Amino acid sequence: MNIYMDLHTHTAASGHGYSTLKENIEAAKELGLKYLGLSEHGPAMPGGPHVFFFSNYRCIPRHHGDLRLFCGVEANILDYEGNLDVEEEILRRMDYVIASMHTFCVRPGSLEENTRAAIRAMQNPYVKILGHPDDSRYPLDYELLVKTALEEKVALEVNNSSLNPQAARKGGRENIIALLNICKRYRAPVILGTDSHICYTVGRFEKTFELIREVDFPEELILNGRQDGIAQLVNCL
Ligand SMILES: [Zn+2]
Ligand SMILES: [Zn+2]
Repeated sequence: MNIYMDLHTHTAASGHGYSTLKENIEAAKELGLKYLGLSEHGPAMPGGPHVFFFSNYRCIPRHHGDLRLFCGVEANILDYEGNLDVEEEILRRMDYVIASMHTFCVRPGSLEENTRAAIRAMQNPYVKILGHPDDSRYPLDYELLVKTALEEKVALEVNNSSLNPQAARKGGRENIIALLNICKRYRAPVILGTDSHICYTVGRFEKTFELIREVDFPEELILNGRQDGIAQLVNCL
């Protein structure tokens, strides 16, 4: 299938990534992507960028030949009410927002607590993607999540890095299979993200493709493969 975009990438600015924005852009262009998303970690991530990093996005050129760059944030969910570490004032200026749970920023709770956190975050009007809802340390009620995703027009992410055997998140494979099966039943679209922290993995979804084939997931529900997929994920086109 054609893949037009990767909206989950980080740079050295995250404090634990290794490439520059230019290197990520070049990698995306080499693969023929149409859209690349810079989704740097929100300021609550230890070593992450200061909030000024996000308010200065206006200086970044957005068109690079046939590639268009979108600048957003992977905001941290801070509590079970789904509060984020980025103020509305900044969220409003982002091209798109991913919301995710990370152990450094929110303590894993019960299934009910984690699910409430995720759902409240998805109800935030600026949030377009729920990042890596596949971590066994944060059990989630997938059926409720999928229903909310459809109601709020938020895409659930299938995270290629979670399928790496060395991933910090645990249970990625089993959890993604469970999630995809429910998405298939409800006809809920998903977004594939590499969660790249180095340019060599930008736009490369090999592990995800294997899984997609395994569960026979319908291609039309994968937003990355649709020319119009970008329209529901970003604020500006
Ligand atoms: Zn990271
Ligand atoms: Zn993340």
